[in-house]
Amino acid sequence: MPTPITSRDDWRLQAVCRDHDPDMWFPNGVHGPNDPAKIICATCPVRTQCAELGLPEHFGIWGGLNEADRDLIRRGITPPRDEPGTPRNEQSRRRQELVRNHILRLGYDPEKPLPNGIGVRVEEDLQISHAQFQSARRAILRSAA
Ligand code: SF4
Repeated sequence: MPTPITSRDDWRLQAVCRDHDPDMWFPNGVHGPNDPAKIICATCPVRTQCAELGLPEHFGIWGGLNEADRDLIRRGITPPRDEPGTPRNEQSRRRQELVRNHILRLGYDPEKPLPNGIGVRVEEDLQISHAQFQSARRAILRSAA
């Protein structure tokens, strides 16, 4: 049940979602950066406070983060922050950096061949597709050559 707002300074008074259907923040299935609620959250001035409040939650979008994003944060992984409108090359660059850092975190050299199963582990941990992982890997190996 929502906590009643009792103070004029409560940050929730600035929440952009107050003017929208709350069901939008509880969509079914996995959603990406173009989810309508995420697009609205991206314009919200209290996004940080909302994301902090929602971190322990397991349902819904809080501060522009869905459960998949929060799960990554809880495990100490910075989730991909592809805001709507982020250029594709910037999205690829960020994903490449994320993959590189995660391979390092798992104890492997991102510029060397990986043991079986590590690619799938990275894809699952970062919740990226196989094609996105392969593309990031190719770019990392190219930059090392
Ligand atoms: S960040 Fe999103 S969910 Fe949170 S208050 Fe703002 S619009 Fe609502």
